[in-house]
Amino acid sequence: MSPVYDRVALIGLGLIASSMFWAIKRAGLAGEVTGYARSEATRDTARRIGLCDRVCDSAAEAAEGADLVVLCVPVGAMGQVAAEIGPVLKSGATVSDVGSVKRAVIDAVGPHIPEEVHFIPAHPLAGTEHSGPQSGFAELYDNRWCLLVPTEGSDAQAVARLRALWEGMGANVEEMEADHHDLVLAVTSHVPHAIAYTMVGVADHLRRVTESEVIKYSAAGFRDFTRIAASDPTMWRDVFLNNREATLDILGRFTEELFMLQRAIRMGDETYLFDYFTRTRAIRRGIIEAGQDTDAPDFGRVKGKPT
Ligand code: NAP
Repeated sequence: MSPVYDRVALIGLGLIASSMFWAIKRAGLAGEVTGYARSEATRDTARRIGLCDRVCDSAAEAAEGADLVVLCVPVGAMGQVAAEIGPVLKSGATVSDVGSVKRAVIDAVGPHIPEEVHFIPAHPLAGTEHSGPQSGFAELYDNRWCLLVPTEGSDAQAVARLRALWEGMGANVEEMEADHHDLVLAVTSHVPHAIAYTMVGVADHLRRVTESEVIKYSAAGFRDFTRIAASDPTMWRDVFLNNREATLDILGRFTEELFMLQRAIRMGDETYLFDYFTRTRAIRRGIIEAGQDTDAPDFGRVKGKPT
């Protein structure tokens, strides 16, 4: 494949950026990829494992002269990084991001992007519980969704080019409006994570159970919760603080449903329970039919390389 961009800069070198780098290299989508991470330790690791063609010592140095700059840092750090790179951005360049929340990122980054630079937020719906520069792999985005969230007046050609990059990395691309994105992701990702964190927290409080039995007898249900609850604390703190409204809305609905389920169990309402579980089973089938998971015993998850 011929390069989509001459030079791509990745700011933040964790799971998402390192997977982008390997996917870009796999398909030859960029002439050169520069990178920057906050800590010297991460930059050293990146240099050692050949992550990025050039690892720079500042975000501005990595972004200068790039045709595409992708912000791959936690949502709460996006605004600060945008302020650092804003003054050096090349005219006609595109700035994008991979943040799990879109409205807050647009509000934080938008003011730092010069007029003659395109700003096209994005969110790849792919990940593992691993983080850091060594956790990435080229296949992460294969057959996963990447949502582009063009802002008002986004240039159609610049959007098409970013779409070509994500498609070249293996993703299926769709466009979505920012607030709608945040609501959809609250349902499909953010609240499920909140529930997993809570369930693992509950088990942790039941010392009697957790001492050994939780590990010894951990069956698919709880094991899956622990996997999700092992996700990066900084990333998830920022997701909840920056998608507060939608998360609280969906958590409220979840609590209502939970009360109804609780009541049905207390009342011995067989019909309610059977019908409810029949409906939820149909949703699972829909996800498998849509190719977003498989029926494998481990729930078909993409296995990240161990860090
Ligand atoms: P990660 O593996 O924890 O990596 C984060 C990177 O950002 C690290 O290289 C870190 O540098 C750097 N960083 C943190 N704060 C910074 C700052 N203030 N200035 C410069 N660099 C900074 O995270 P990730 O999983 O790749 O997530 C990155 C973004 O992708 C987040 O916005 C997240 O919401 C989004 N996302 C994540 C997933 C997922 O499942 N993980 C999925 C889709 C989207 P150091 O190593 O030096 O600290």
